[in-house]
Amino acid sequence: MSATKHDWTKQEIIDIYNKPLMELLYDAATTHRLHHDPNTVQVSTLLSIKTGGCPEDCGYCPQAARYHTDIEGNDLMSVQQVKAQALRAKSSGSSRVCMGAAWRNVKDGEEFDQVLEMVRTINKLDMEVCCTLGMITENQAKRLAEAGLYAYNHNLDSSEEYYKEVISTRGFEDRLETIDNVRKTNVTVCSGGIIGMGEAIEDRAGMLVALSTLNPQPESVPINALVAVDGTPLEDQEPVSIWDMVRMVATTRIVMPETQVRLSAGRTQMTREGQAMCFFAGANSIFAGDKLLTTPNPDVNEDMEMFKLLGLNPQKPFIKKMQPETIEAKDSQYQDLGEKPKWTRPEHTIERNETAKQKSKLAN
Ligand code: SF4
Repeated sequence: MSATKHDWTKQEIIDIYNKPLMELLYDAATTHRLHHDPNTVQVSTLLSIKTGGCPEDCGYCPQAARYHTDIEGNDLMSVQQVKAQALRAKSSGSSRVCMGAAWRNVKDGEEFDQVLEMVRTINKLDMEVCCTLGMITENQAKRLAEAGLYAYNHNLDSSEEYYKEVISTRGFEDRLETIDNVRKTNVTVCSGGIIGMGEAIEDRAGMLVALSTLNPQPESVPINALVAVDGTPLEDQEPVSIWDMVRMVATTRIVMPETQVRLSAGRTQMTREGQAMCFFAGANSIFAGDKLLTTPNPDVNEDMEMFKLLGLNPQKPFIKKMQPETIEAKDSQYQDLGEKPKWTRPEHTIERNETAKQKSKLAN
């Protein structure tokens, strides 16, 4: 098996993306078979533990408080509620629970302590625990690791250049810094992006350059197809074509051969044939459950039927990496520092974000 390449250039990645489809699929499927069992797919359940009311302005997100969408906000769930949902996910074949909170960044205090307790509780159920909580400091990453966190999700979303066209309330470098903070622990990194936001192929390749030149590369890379939600700045974007999705998955597989490539948002817009093509092209992970934070997702039973049809098996937990130990709060080495880190706030203007904000003001 050849060593993983970490010096991909944008042009090399564009050339892979644009190959004749049959060649691209063959190359991706060959790479996939060298590094993974092609009949095993990891299944994660995404749980929104705190929904809506987010201060950020991500152009794709219905949870941003500044846009007028149908999302019902919720305060942080209790540990017991989360445990019940995790048990349900486990019984329907998920090996991982990913908890998402609509926060700009984690703040030390009661709510973060509650999330740490959720991590401890799910790790004790012998499931992989992932969190996506926004930007985190090194000390917060260490506290999550001590609690038994298996993975931290923090998407780059797009290329550094196109990021500025989608989000104005934080910078691309903040994303990289959070990933770097996670890398200072034994927690694995999950980081990917969204296609269909109006970006060019160069931007898709640019995002893959940013991810694949990280050393180590992320253990998991979610590829989302935009779900255009009414009221958000990206509400009028055309759905992503299956061909773009397959090309993106295949290219990701080739440039990051060992990562788990995760089919994420947008699966409801894909046929089973389309999803099968993505699995052939190297996708080996999905999110299960009828909601992905706030956007629709196929029903668990539908997914299990698809697995049966395609002869796929759900991956058992802790196959790629050992289960972390859980350290109880009272024995913790890393305490609440109450830090106030200076994450950037570029605050440039994105016309479509401003328009959506104005429309929302009129509607409220
Ligand atoms: S994507 Fe995350 S950070 Fe951005 S608005 Fe939505 S919840 Fe907030």
